[in-house]
Amino acid sequence: MFENSHVFLNGRFEAGKGKAETVVNPSTGEPVATLPSADRDQIDRAVAAADAAFPGWANLTPRERSRALLRIADKIEADAAIFADLESRNCGKPHRYVLGGEVPNVVDVFRFFAGAARTMPGVPAGEYRNGRNTSMLRRDPVGVVASIAPWNYPLLMASWKIAPAIAAGNTVVIKPSEHTPLTLLKLAEILAEILPPGVVNVVTGNGADVGQHLVSHPLVRMVSLTGDVGTGRKIMAAAAETLKRTHLELGGKAPVIVFDDADLSCLIETLKEASFYNAGQDCTAACHIYAAAPIHDRLAADLASAIKALPFGDPDDPRAELGPLITARQRERVAGFVDRARQAGGEVLAGGRAPERPGFFYEPTLVAAAQASEIVQKEVFGPVVSITPFRDEEQVVAWANASSYGLASSVWTNNAGRATRVSSALRYGVTWVNTHGVFATEMPHGGMRHSGYGSDLSMNGLTEYTQVRHVMFAHQS
Ligand code: NAD
Repeated sequence: MFENSHVFLNGRFEAGKGKAETVVNPSTGEPVATLPSADRDQIDRAVAAADAAFPGWANLTPRERSRALLRIADKIEADAAIFADLESRNCGKPHRYVLGGEVPNVVDVFRFFAGAARTMPGVPAGEYRNGRNTSMLRRDPVGVVASIAPWNYPLLMASWKIAPAIAAGNTVVIKPSEHTPLTLLKLAEILAEILPPGVVNVVTGNGADVGQHLVSHPLVRMVSLTGDVGTGRKIMAAAAETLKRTHLELGGKAPVIVFDDADLSCLIETLKEASFYNAGQDCTAACHIYAAAPIHDRLAADLASAIKALPFGDPDDPRAELGPLITARQRERVAGFVDRARQAGGEVLAGGRAPERPGFFYEPTLVAAAQASEIVQKEVFGPVVSITPFRDEEQVVAWANASSYGLASSVWTNNAGRATRVSSALRYGVTWVNTHGVFATEMPHGGMRHSGYGSDLSMNGLTEYTQVRHVMFAHQS
């Protein structure tokens, strides 16, 4: 698979000349492909290609760029089954959800930014006149963008990065995660047919060598990362050398705040997906519940029964609701959190072990734990939910806002006043009320504190990839 086509550079595929990375099917533990990474020369040539393509691409009309994005969307839609097959094999997640949810979302992202390219908002206060001069404010693309994608939604996260960047007139060098390069390489086949050479380039390989070299390159003007907090720090440090702009979508620890008047059956139905889709490997996963003290025990018991009934299995198993973790290492990390929570006095109410079967599965798990415990404070990134009782509104808002993360949150109550007060007081990039994990391409997605900064999706996601400029004309006679 992908023989001799591991790097997509200036419109052509090349064999990687760097270190080989083995791509594994996490539901079996078996290798799917071995791909040599890009070496330094290939990364440099990819950046040079993006830099050379920039003026031509930036000077196309929005209509021309928009048409290219629409054609990309149509081609992805036509090949949806191929993308779903590759993605579900590479990530282990249920095929029907990738085909029915993730791939259509990728198509929607390209279509949204195709429209957005033509209606990009101007900048406020666009004119300054003093009798001798008139000013114009412009919104221009930034230049070459290095995009670094994670393994949890490989194609979707790549689309969140590529579509707005090229819609705004930038060119891109994107690196997928070394664990999940397959769908991005498949997408590159489509890009090769539609885009001028160099507008989007793909370099495969790990973070420490390939990623670090790419983000440090002096011709790269902006770095966009979706990944871990520690990776965000390294990328900011590398970007500091050449003062690049950074856009960081990092980890999360989404609190689910449940008051005693909430509809608990609706909550439990929602959490089956919002907590466990993609085996909880989601930065917005509903992974910690703050339950009002009077309903804590009932909610914990009902949720534990619902979780125990959640079927997990291979991507092609039509009953499976969740798949495995991405790697054996990730499963060990998740198991470590649960084991330490047990030792620290937490009570495992459901799951809490790795089943005896091939692949990197871990049972859907619920742990009752105290606010100060590690499992409540740190991002687990697995099928693990913790639950803690709270006394009152003031206490729960303070607890939620004390998290080092600030990406997603939800509030569950039938009291409109309380919903308004609490959702306004929470310091999170998104707060859902009586739901969790629902995305709209038109709405911004981004975090605060250690969850990073900047917006993906929406018009804000487009303007993120632009630079406001001032041009002043003298009134010559
Ligand atoms: P990761 O940080 O390990 O890897 C992300 C990407 O960064 C990979 O492509 C990796 O190769 C690359 N990378 C690693 N070190 C690098 C370096 N020094 N220089 C350049 N690139 C480097 O993250 P992951 O394990 O793939 O993804 C999981 C993390 O991503 C979680 O913390 C999760 O919460 C976060 N995430 C956030 C969002 C969001 O929208 N905020 C969405 C999805 C995932």
